Amino acid sequence: MLSITKGPPPPVWANGVTAMRRADQHRWQDISKPMRDAAIEALLEEQHHLCAYCCRRVRRSDTGEWCRIEHVKSRNPPKGVDASTWGDQHILDWANLVLVCPGRAGDLQTCDRSRGNLKMPLNPSKPPPRPETALVYTRSGRVSVRDDVESCDAIRHQLDTTLNLNAIGLIEQRKRVLMRLKKLANRSSGRLSTSQLQRMRSEFAPADGSPWQGFASVALSWIDRRLARE
Ligand SMILES: [Zn+2]
Repeated sequence: MLSITKGPPPPVWANGVTAMRRADQHRWQDISKPMRDAAIEALLEEQHHLCAYCCRRVRRSDTGEWCRIEHVKSRNPPKGVDASTWGDQHILDWANLVLVCPGRAGDLQTCDRSRGNLKMPLNPSKPPPRPETALVYTRSGRVSVRDDVESCDAIRHQLDTTLNLNAIGLIEQRKRVLMRLKKLANRSSGRLSTSQLQRMRSEFAPADGSPWQGFASVALSWIDRRLARE
C-alpha cells in the first residue's frame, strides 16, 4: 500500500455528480459511462496505475477485468451498522474513491473482493498513518505493520484478513521484486551509492507521470531505507 494524494475530481465527474445530486440521485448505478471513464482515467493517474491496496499494476478496462472503482467507506454499511446512520453522500464523494485490482491471486480473493464492507483502519488516501511509515515488508515477501503504530492490531487484521494481502500469490510477487533489488545490490558488491539508489527509485516510481512498476511499494521501502542511512 502507498499513500494516495487525492486531487480535485475531473470536470466530467464533478459536473455529473452536481447534476445527479440536483436530481436527488445518489446511487452508484446511476453514474454515466463518461463519468465512470473520466473517474478511472483520473484515479489511474492519482495512483500511478497501481492498485490502492496490493499495489499490483492496474489498467483501464471497460469490462471491469483489469480494474474496479472502490469505495474506501463502503457503499453499504458493515454488518451490524444501521443503514440509516451510514448515509449515502459518500457514494459519489471523490475523496472516497480509489482504484483497485480485480482482487484475485490464484484461487484466493484479495483487496476489495476479500474486504466486502469491512472497515479499514489504514486508509491509503487518508493519513495518518501513512502506509510508507506504518508498513514493513519482510524478506519472505510478507507485508506487516510496525508494532509502534497506533491501532497496529486492527491494521494487521486489515492486511492479513480483510484485504488478504499475504495471499501466497502476492507474497511471491513481492519476493520477486526483493530478489531483483538484491541482484542489483550484489552487482555493486552490496554497497549502492546514493545516485544508484535514486536511479533505482526513479525506475520503479518515475516522476514523469508514467505508470509505476507493480509492487513499487516494496521497492520504495527497500530503497528509501538505504537512502536514509546515507
Ligand atoms: Zn489489489
